[in-house]
Amino acid sequence: RKSNDLGTFEHYESSVRSYCRSFPTKFHRASGYQMWDVEGKSYIDFFAGAGALNYGHNPPEMKKKLINYLMEDGISHTLDMASEAKEAFLVQFNKAILKPRGLNYKVMFPGPTGTNSVESALKLARKVTGRQTIMSFTNAFHGMTLGALAVTGNKFKRKGAGVPLNHAVSMPYDGYMGANTDTLAYIESYLKDSGSGISLPAAVIVETLQGEGGINVASNEWLTGLSEICKRYGMFLIVDDVQMGCGRTGSFFSFERCGIVPDIVCMSKSIGGYGLPMAITLIKPELDQWSPGEHNGTFRGNNLAFITATEALSYWETNQFAEDIAAKGALLRNELDEIVAKFPELKGEARGIGMMQGIAFEPGIAERISIAAFERGLIMETSGTDSEVIKIMPPLMIDRDGLMEGLLLLKNSVENVVD
Ligand code: PMP
Repeated sequence: RKSNDLGTFEHYESSVRSYCRSFPTKFHRASGYQMWDVEGKSYIDFFAGAGALNYGHNPPEMKKKLINYLMEDGISHTLDMASEAKEAFLVQFNKAILKPRGLNYKVMFPGPTGTNSVESALKLARKVTGRQTIMSFTNAFHGMTLGALAVTGNKFKRKGAGVPLNHAVSMPYDGYMGANTDTLAYIESYLKDSGSGISLPAAVIVETLQGEGGINVASNEWLTGLSEICKRYGMFLIVDDVQMGCGRTGSFFSFERCGIVPDIVCMSKSIGGYGLPMAITLIKPELDQWSPGEHNGTFRGNNLAFITATEALSYWETNQFAEDIAAKGALLRNELDEIVAKFPELKGEARGIGMMQGIAFEPGIAERISIAAFERGLIMETSGTDSEVIKIMPPLMIDRDGLMEGLLLLKNSVENVVD
């Protein structure tokens, strides 16, 4: 699909370096799980800003809070200074998220995006342990700045850096070497070899479910085992919950399903609630060893994002939201299994948890399905190193009807690819 399939995009393509090749139209407005382009065509959003729009487009209660704040000349930008909006977020985050889960973390603001959170985590682990390297996994995605890219296991993304990216040790993710290979045993044998000159890593950074890497789910046992290895070798466990956090897999933190307690947690995307840039890094209190100025940045702490982020946390005051995600996730899996069974010639495999699911195909098919879906009014990305997986991540607030409507478009698109 070329961008100039759409006449108006020719100019755009030649003058702008950053445009979206996958969805060649110009969008105008959005509400809930729907988007409309300038021609008035509507789309169902199964992409949700790559996880930045878990609460949907323009959620009314957040919009209202934001408008009121602006009308009262609320301050938008205070960098590191204290503000009412920041304080309200911190109080609410403790009350609605950390306390009920018995978690004790300090919250730091590492910059506006997920990759900033990852950078802060890697830097802090290196500083506190005095060690150099970070262990990460095949097919991982952690961001596009140099530090985060060094722990990203995707050759195409890494190629953009133009230089070898060291300070990282790549290990096989759960299942990467086939069902019969115990990757944890492999990892531990590597670590045991430290006597032969291999230096122990400062930390392990892991996604509990790899989103960009192809919707690969790590089992609870694997994650628990990994956490134990970290303790045995004095490595910090960093969970990158930038994409899987804020309810994507069914609970606020993705690691709640296996009961591990990471030393550091990276969050961004939906933490701001409204698609506004915001990131946090959660660190165990004893790790707060930063000296002044060691990790700062102009856009740390945007008050507009604090306003919507605080409101977003009210979704988590009861269990209802999590229960709804589980119910819709089960429905979604049912429907995906049906699609897989209906088109055996495509050799699809449904995978994922909660509202982070997809179907893996042989290379080439997922992209064709995504194109057919776009034509039918469904926005859906692919993931995986070879874009071999269709990635279904609707806003979590989508209702049953919206979900079924989107899935019907998906079925249609798969049929079209089979024909
Ligand atoms: N970590 C994970 C797991 C991600 O999915 C992403 C973004 N896709 C990032 C980090 C980087 O976040 P950002 O794009 O906001 O820098």
